[in-house]
Amino acid sequence: MSATAPFLNTAPLLIVTDVGARLVRRGLLEPADAAAGGWLRARALVFRRGPVVCEAAPAPARALTLPPVHPTFPAPMTLALHNTLTRRVEPFQPLPLPHARVTMYTCGPTVWNYAHIGNFRTFLFEDLLRRFLEYSGYQVFHIMNLTDVDDRTIKAAAAAGQRLDEYTAPFIRAFYEDRDYLRIRPAHAYPRATQSIPAMVRLVERLLERGVAYRGDDGSIYFAIAKFPGYGRLSRLDTRELKIGARVASDEYAKDDPRDFALWKKAEPIDEQVGAAWDAPFGRGRPGWHLECSAMSLEAIRPAQTLDIHAGGVDLIFPHHEDEIAQSEAATGRPFARFWVHGEFLNVRGTKMSKRFGNFLTARDLREQGVDAAALRLLFWQTHYRQPLDFSDEALDAATEGVRRLSEFRDRLSGDGRRGTGDGRLAELAARFEADVRTALDDDLNAPRACAALFEFVRAGNRELDRGTGSGAAREALDRVMGVLDVLPTRRTADAELERWIEARIAARDKARKAKDFKEADRLRAELRARGVEIEDTPAGTKWRLT
Ligand SMILES: [Zn+2]
Repeated sequence: MSATAPFLNTAPLLIVTDVGARLVRRGLLEPADAAAGGWLRARALVFRRGPVVCEAAPAPARALTLPPVHPTFPAPMTLALHNTLTRRVEPFQPLPLPHARVTMYTCGPTVWNYAHIGNFRTFLFEDLLRRFLEYSGYQVFHIMNLTDVDDRTIKAAAAAGQRLDEYTAPFIRAFYEDRDYLRIRPAHAYPRATQSIPAMVRLVERLLERGVAYRGDDGSIYFAIAKFPGYGRLSRLDTRELKIGARVASDEYAKDDPRDFALWKKAEPIDEQVGAAWDAPFGRGRPGWHLECSAMSLEAIRPAQTLDIHAGGVDLIFPHHEDEIAQSEAATGRPFARFWVHGEFLNVRGTKMSKRFGNFLTARDLREQGVDAAALRLLFWQTHYRQPLDFSDEALDAATEGVRRLSEFRDRLSGDGRRGTGDGRLAELAARFEADVRTALDDDLNAPRACAALFEFVRAGNRELDRGTGSGAAREALDRVMGVLDVLPTRRTADAELERWIEARIAARDKARKAKDFKEADRLRAELRARGVEIEDTPAGTKWRLT
């Protein structure tokens, strides 16, 4: 604190980001905290569009309302996220010492089938969140579980006449392949439910000891929701109508019919048949889906008991996340997750995309159709993660064209940028572009606005390049932002044979141009283009690239 005082004395005007300003306007932050980190004693005087001008004031007597910024985090966090718990956009701060990282748990796929692109929309928004936290200087510990035992996997394995692990193995492999195709950064841990049974057994024992779980007359163990007063907080359930003692054994049920849910299901013949039954002090059986996530996340972050962020699709709010909170908090007595972040659905022709409705498209369908992951990522970023997204061929075509334009611009920056001095108009545009992207993503991951800033940079940057200015800084800024959005097209690479063919065509075209046979030169260019080769004539000769 004392380190900032001399600065305040000599600099009466402070500039605060406009994210801070918005938070102040929404009443989420005290003006003095809007500049958390360096300028804690600033007092906001004037609000206007864009940056807020604050005036330094004598140190206020009141205590700070925000927890201290962790010393290993390089910059004060300006990210604000919508928290489903409070239904508000709140400033994000990781837990203070001794937790030197952001812990993020995201509910992973149920590996009973290929994940559809609706599932991947959720995983992609989580990828954006993770990458932006890392871009902002945080170390993130990302955990994603694999649900390899639940009602659906057991039913599907039995129908296929296979053991559970045999049945799920190819879908687990496919999920990793699809993840890599979509350029989703791998999580740091992928706990599998079937490999985490001891942690689940311990959690059930603890809930039984605490009197919030009981054995039903069907031999399964249930969670008594009436014994957990916070039940319904996340999903805003009206708990006045709760039916005390009414039970549900299935993993999925409706919000208007909340009941005591199964933590541990007594082994049935079908479970034994597929190898999905384990011994436990409270009887042989298998875990309920909700229990799995509570046990795996708490196990992964031990000795901590609270996650910084728990994310998933909106369809998981009830019952899955509500039940996760009940199990975890009843066992630990601590808040389970500080931020609950939920992504909206993907629609195809206005219907929620789901295998149940039969309109599903898997990531591998798209890959087999030759869709570039960059186009899909851009398409997803162009709608805010809390808005439903309509998937259509037209939208995908437009995104494909967008990534092509971006790729051309990057190539121009690579070619011309090196000649620039780095301090011209293009460098200014680049600095503004990166600041705009950061401001947009700081504001509850507003990726559509970040994309608008990106294409504004492409337009204005191309104009500057036409004028012959250049800047290495522009290319660097673009590459840093691509570390977050990652929407440059996948590069095709030429094999030796294609390379020889291209060089021969270019040599023939040069010869035709020298002989002033421009018709033949144009024909050769068209021939190259038909095989996806773009050429550009430069003072150093003709350059080519694959599109
Ligand atoms: Zn989960």
